[in-house]
Amino acid sequence: RLMDSGAEGPDEEVIEAALRPKRLDDFVGQERVREQLGLVLHSALRRSRTPDHVLLSGGPGLGKTTLAMIIAAELGQPLRVSSGPAIERAGDLAAILSTLAEGEVLFLDEIHRMARPAEEMLYMAMEDFRVDVVVGKGPGATAIPLDIAPFTLVGATTRAGMLPGPLRDRFGFVAHMDFYGPEELEVIVRRSARLLDVEITDEGAAEVAGRSRGTPRIANRLLRRVRDFAEVRADGVVTADLARAALELYEVDERGLDRLDRAVLRSLLGTFGGGPVGLSTLAVSVGEEPETVEVVAEPFLVRQGLLARTPRGRIATPAAWAHLGLTPPPPPGD
Ligand code: ATP
Repeated sequence: RLMDSGAEGPDEEVIEAALRPKRLDDFVGQERVREQLGLVLHSALRRSRTPDHVLLSGGPGLGKTTLAMIIAAELGQPLRVSSGPAIERAGDLAAILSTLAEGEVLFLDEIHRMARPAEEMLYMAMEDFRVDVVVGKGPGATAIPLDIAPFTLVGATTRAGMLPGPLRDRFGFVAHMDFYGPEELEVIVRRSARLLDVEITDEGAAEVAGRSRGTPRIANRLLRRVRDFAEVRADGVVTADLARAALELYEVDERGLDRLDRAVLRSLLGTFGGGPVGLSTLAVSVGEEPETVEVVAEPFLVRQGLLARTPRGRIATPAAWAHLGLTPPPPPGD
């Protein structure tokens, strides 16, 4: 799990599960993905066939797991869950595939992290519902073909670009999940507040939504922090003022930048004078893995127009200097 992408403890996980929309109609936002996916699923149902394999690509917390569960629910099929890192050998995958029931939905999270031999086995399984299980080693090794039940694979990845072409091509439907707009997040915040029995004003919901980095998981998390604050420091009702005060306490600023985002920006501006600087150098300077900076912080900073990726490295935009209240250095030659 990438830093800041997961739930924070067992309690939070229970709450997160409770807040998950169960059907496509309850899934807020991602209009196009929802419509396209609805067609894929319902036409398969009508023809009584397993639908094409689905690839969900998008940053952490945008609803990939939720959509995988919804796909299974819409098809009326059980969901089997595993993940790329958990599949270290082809045999691990064969064990899963050979026990799938007909029509079952297999969710593979972080599919870009699967071991190579397993990946090759998966190509064949996706295409022909068949795998070759290799028994023995060296010259005596034999491949035993094994039929598997037709199933639907739902793969999720935060880095579609890292998937090998042959694997990507075997998905009949690729859904790109983008950041959510403020109105969509407001709907999510109000829905979650209702489910959690939190009293929140429309302005309060807008304040939480606006600071959620375009991400439902963060919206739900901020809502819980704001609720705690409201219960302890006030009468329990989440107003805009209260949300603002609570989120300041949790170091979430008015654009939704959190500590990691600001650390990255501060380092880019302070240590590297606005860049350009390479991703790994930048990551080291904030004490994070390059992948965390690339997948968790950067997409949002780019989206906010604060950071740009160039062939020479990452650079800060004028808006970044303004956001941190700093003056950019004069352009060279002045
Ligand atoms: P990761 O890849 O990090 O596991 P994810 O993309 O799978 O993230 P989810 O776990 O599906 O994200 O979603 C995180 C939380 O956000 C869920 O608890 C769910 O309640 C909420 N959520 C996600 N998408 C939506 C949505 N479209 N409408 C309402 N709630 C949503």
